[in-house]
Amino acid sequence: MTADGIVGEFLALKAETDADLLAMQCGDFYEFFAEDAEFVGDELDLKVSEKSSHGSTYPMAGVPVDDLTPYLKALVERGYRVAVADQYETDDGHAREITRVVTPGTLLETTDPTARFLAAVVAVDGRYGLALADVTTGEFLVTTTDAAAEVRAELHRFDPAEVLPGPTVRDDDSLPNGVGTDAPVIEYDDAAFAPGRADRRLREHFGEGVLDSVGLTDRAGVAAAGAVLAYVDETGVGVLDALTRLGTYDTGDHLDLDATTQRNLELTETMHGEREGSLLATVDHTVTSAGGRRLREWLTRPRRDRDVIDRRLDSVAAFAEAALARDRVREVLDDAYDLERLAARATSGSADATDLLSIRDTLDTLPALADAVADSRLAESPLPGIVDRPDRETAASLRAELDAALAPDPPGTVTEGGLFRRGYDDELDDLIDRYEEARGWLDGLADREKARTGITHLQVDRNKTDGYYIQVGNSETDAVPEEYREIKTLKNSKRYTTDELAEREREVLRLEEARGDLEYELFGELRDRVAGHAELLQDVGRMLATVDALASLATHAASQDWTRPEVVEPGPLVVEAGRHPVVETTTDFVPNDLHLDSDRGFLLVTGPNMSGKSTYMRQAALIVLLAQAGSFVPARTATVGVVDGIYTRVGALDELAGGRSTFMVEMEELSNILHSATEESLVVLDEVGRGTATYDGISIAWATTEYIHNEVGCKCLFATHYHELTALADHLPRVENVHVAVAGDDDEDGDITFLRTVEEGPTDRSYGVHVAELAGVPAPVVDRSRDVLDRLREDRAIEARGAGTGDGGTTQAVFDLGSGDFRTDGTAAADDAATLDPTTETVLAELRETSVAETSPVDLMTRVREWQDRLDDGD
Ligand code: ADP
Repeated sequence: MTADGIVGEFLALKAETDADLLAMQCGDFYEFFAEDAEFVGDELDLKVSEKSSHGSTYPMAGVPVDDLTPYLKALVERGYRVAVADQYETDDGHAREITRVVTPGTLLETTDPTARFLAAVVAVDGRYGLALADVTTGEFLVTTTDAAAEVRAELHRFDPAEVLPGPTVRDDDSLPNGVGTDAPVIEYDDAAFAPGRADRRLREHFGEGVLDSVGLTDRAGVAAAGAVLAYVDETGVGVLDALTRLGTYDTGDHLDLDATTQRNLELTETMHGEREGSLLATVDHTVTSAGGRRLREWLTRPRRDRDVIDRRLDSVAAFAEAALARDRVREVLDDAYDLERLAARATSGSADATDLLSIRDTLDTLPALADAVADSRLAESPLPGIVDRPDRETAASLRAELDAALAPDPPGTVTEGGLFRRGYDDELDDLIDRYEEARGWLDGLADREKARTGITHLQVDRNKTDGYYIQVGNSETDAVPEEYREIKTLKNSKRYTTDELAEREREVLRLEEARGDLEYELFGELRDRVAGHAELLQDVGRMLATVDALASLATHAASQDWTRPEVVEPGPLVVEAGRHPVVETTTDFVPNDLHLDSDRGFLLVTGPNMSGKSTYMRQAALIVLLAQAGSFVPARTATVGVVDGIYTRVGALDELAGGRSTFMVEMEELSNILHSATEESLVVLDEVGRGTATYDGISIAWATTEYIHNEVGCKCLFATHYHELTALADHLPRVENVHVAVAGDDDEDGDITFLRTVEEGPTDRSYGVHVAELAGVPAPVVDRSRDVLDRLREDRAIEARGAGTGDGGTTQAVFDLGSGDFRTDGTAAADDAATLDPTTETVLAELRETSVAETSPVDLMTRVREWQDRLDDGD
């Protein structure tokens, strides 16, 4: 075929697919041409050569057929969709067609142990449907909700590899690009989202009664699930079969954790995007990758229902006490492979003999696991029931079948034979006997011929071009018998064949081929039988993952001296000697108490910067989250009233580090919290209003406190550097002050120590200046700041200035430190503040706006000098 022909064919196939790239088989290579070649050349560092035809040249890059997988994986994991066109023989030569499209959400060949979900979102009749499928494990979940925020939160939790927004949500502003994830977003066929068609597709795949049996009645859910099925079906042969069952869940079963909160609490990665230092990395002692996935799922989707929570806690408690049995269980699990993934490889036809042996070995762990949980200390726990859940008899017979079938050390390919044990199949045994007999004849030929002819330099060998031959050294070629036919002359020897050798050779080759074919066929049948048990394998895989995750939680609890929380519904949050689960592993942690109940549901947390406020509050949120995930918690004792959601927002400083625009984001988050939180929620606010001018900030913080206290009525921890807010505790019955204790007094020698213990009552002053000093801000700046601060304190009144409105900032309100009230009468305020001349006022305003933490010492010094100059001039 001409280059033009090949490139032309490539371009024609490329036009058929909406994949980003096309890999087209050309004999022993998969080739990329034209733009695709340049692209993969850059992305994968492949050598790009030129293919010329009819005066045009085209870039071309190729990979050997057997090496395609890693390249595909690399491209797909970077978010590209790659179509693969295979070559097949036809009567008149060969032809090519696209056989599969590999996409991020349907990539089977992944080595990444975390789940890879394909998500579809759609809105029908004002409701959202969300379907999530992980083809690598067969997990397939559907949920529906009225709230876009819930869709966003779910997507953040599942962290999909690819998102298919339906036609009705593509322009939905509340679900921007990929609904808030950074996964690739595919505009998939509108028709696949049509509820009627989706409905039919689901019934065809899962069986007529499926929608009723899983309670999926909502058209939005049906539409989303149907679209996922259609998409998976299009991407490749056999992948769809891994989706053996449909599951629905109610977002109401799980704790509401919005996307921001998941990030703020650093559940699976830190604010800097690293796994190390996250809650998951800290508590993860699982020994299997499936167990790791399960633990991640629990931490990102804690429960709301006490039954499930208590059942997990019962198992964790049993494991925590029975250290020996736990170790045995973990040792057994250590031998288990990722059964959910292996099941998917079996259904898609990509499992090889080693994979089937891994399945056998994993099934092999079941009796040992059952033994281990029969330990007297675990016997009363839910564990024996969990281990017993999958059908152990079927599992045992499947295991026995695999064991009887497969050779102990099979080759890496499934086409060359050597896969099966003797005794598995009579026809195969017969072939192997004949093959070995023929091989035996060949193997013994050299010795027999030496003896027969007396030639000493005689050997029998085989190569690609000559096949089997007899080789005789030049010195003895005169002695060869007459039936030897010479086929080649070498420098020191000659090669011969004989009729009998040629005949035997043909027989060996024929038997070899027949054996390969038969084994391939038998292997396909065996793999299909294994695939037929996909659901069982997935059950066993999930069970093993669950036991691993439970044992992991117990391991951490035992090593860090965590305690079983008493989970009550509804109820207070009372923690004695609590710790932060992550910080305690790297720091000599000072435990502290926490008490939130219906009489004191709102704590204002004050204290100097860096004293531990935010740690204290996150610790509270994490203790609740861990408890509802079914874990022990870092505390001496803990009573945890189940909450329906945890909502957090953290200060502007942290956000700046993340490069997000501050005040708008802060207000959006606050707005989301105030809308979403209910009486049953836990809200953690770490600074509110910091991103704007001081008095705007105080006002917003103030009003937020009142609203949460009066309207929402949830549990709330609110850390603020607006010391003024502490006055609210006197006026609002459920608001109490706590502060992080500090020893020493900065007025005398500037020497204070953070005690990190949280005590009742407000902190008695602001320590900002002290922190500036600790941070190395030059002494003149610090001294001058103290002066200014004192003057502010003495005045006892802070004038609230409008931020840059109209006539250069008018006084809008006066906050009176004494009464803790705003006076909104602008005139009166102006009177109160009239003691200061305009220059001083401006300097003070600038001083207030200056963030000590965010300004370098040199800049601070320059600014202070400038202020001093201006104040001197103003005198
Ligand atoms: P704040 O929110 O008051 O600025 P942070 O909570 O960020 O303070 O804590 C400041 C530092 O103190 C962090 O490095 C944190 O790890 C440490 N820290 C906080 N609480 C404790 C504690 N109870 N025991 C030991 N170290 C703590």
